[in-house]
Amino acid sequence: MVVSDEIAMDRDIPDTRNPECPHWQYPEDLPTTSVVIVFHNEGFSTLMRTVHSVIDRSPPQFLKEVLLVDDFSDKAALKEPLEDYISRWGSKVRLIRNKERAGLIRTRTTGAEEAKGEVVLFLDAHCEVNRNWLPPLLAPIYRDKYTMTVPVIDGVDHDTFEYRPVYGAGSNFRGIFEWGMLYKETELPPEIERSREHQSEPYKAPTHAGGLFAINREYFLSLGAYDPGLLVWGGENFELSFKVWQCGGSIEWVPCSRVGHVYRGFMPYNFGKLAEKKKGPLITINYKRVIETWFDDKYKEYFYTREPLARFLDMGDISKQLELKERLNCKSFHWFMENVAYDMLRKYPELPKNIHWGELRSAATSRCLDTMGHSAPSFMGVAHCHGFGNNQLIRLNAEGQLGVGERCIDADGQGIKLIFCRLGTVDGPWQYDEQNHVMLHKRIGKCVALHPQTYQLSLMPCDPINNYQKWTFNQFVPKW
Ligand code: UDP
Ligand code: MN
Repeated sequence: MVVSDEIAMDRDIPDTRNPECPHWQYPEDLPTTSVVIVFHNEGFSTLMRTVHSVIDRSPPQFLKEVLLVDDFSDKAALKEPLEDYISRWGSKVRLIRNKERAGLIRTRTTGAEEAKGEVVLFLDAHCEVNRNWLPPLLAPIYRDKYTMTVPVIDGVDHDTFEYRPVYGAGSNFRGIFEWGMLYKETELPPEIERSREHQSEPYKAPTHAGGLFAINREYFLSLGAYDPGLLVWGGENFELSFKVWQCGGSIEWVPCSRVGHVYRGFMPYNFGKLAEKKKGPLITINYKRVIETWFDDKYKEYFYTREPLARFLDMGDISKQLELKERLNCKSFHWFMENVAYDMLRKYPELPKNIHWGELRSAATSRCLDTMGHSAPSFMGVAHCHGFGNNQLIRLNAEGQLGVGERCIDADGQGIKLIFCRLGTVDGPWQYDEQNHVMLHKRIGKCVALHPQTYQLSLMPCDPINNYQKWTFNQFVPKW
């Protein structure tokens, strides 16, 4: 905020589009648009710079309004000073406020209900739109109102507010996910590259990051907007993507529309009262609702293999969601995988079953294997067994892979390490001896051992009677 406050509201930013972009022609009667910006305790200048950039860089005839939806902020600057500031734009910028905290997902739905434009275009409250960003997003919707469109998201550095292209104008990526439902991006598959005439033309994508997209308002509402059972933040991008694709629509990414977004260093807000009522991690509860609604049984198993604790979460009632799926005659998830996300399995293949999952306890010390909060690549350690899962939830699958979250465990002469799993593979070097409780690294031919004094982990010649080499999986129900 300190840096943002020093920067002009209407500053220039680098044009990061592909050089082909200025040569596209767009219809003159594109649909009118409500740009909907939901916010909770955002920095004043960051929020206002978002609005300035939209007003400055959108053809006025297509911009019906900017609709600000306050999700129950309590910062003083967002009360009267905000109302005073936006009055300069008259009715072009509207502000509505939630009467209680609703979370970003429900607040976006409120924005869509209140919007007056034909298209609703959602932006986060810390964006800067780039040169001629709007017409390229509207053109595919103009041609087919069941298409939703997504701009390419550039980065605005949260320390310096420097605007940086996410990647060069010549590359194109699209949204996919791994089986734990973490959002990922990947190069365009050759099937799509082959059919493209221009590097700058829109292309179909399985999913999107979530915050920034455009969709025909009536179409969005006819899909039930977002599942109202989703809480605060997370998973709504998947819910909408599966719903759109499986129920007859499509998603296009639009390289000629660029929008900068401040990726923050940490989450600056808590989930408030909305989280207190729930047992367990909110985001995983959301994922569970989404996969239980949209996945076929086979694919649901991959999610539970990757997130074993999700089975114990209460996702609430999804009967309305299933009814909608039935009523709209939506296609199967298998159809989606074969026809839309066909490149996903090349990176994240079908998951073999877990042979064991839980804490991996050392018999000698009753401490547990732990990532120690480090991100890969790093050394694994041991820590007091806490029974919450997270950094201590270890999985061993039928093909010898040890995993924690989306990462894998391997070893070398230096120790036991947390590494990036090799994309496209699901196997690993481990073999667990059910009788002696030793964990053998097959390639190296040694076993995981704990140092009695330093508690460091290493591979040692296997010794099935040494307590410092004995490990047991303790499958638990978490204490939420
Ligand atoms: N937001 C909101 N209510 C909430 C949480 C977030 O209205 O309970 C707003 C937030 O101000 C932002 C948008 O929703 O404009 C997306 O949130 P955020 O930027 O934190 O998500 P991220 O970009 O990290 O996915
Ligand atoms: Mn954001």
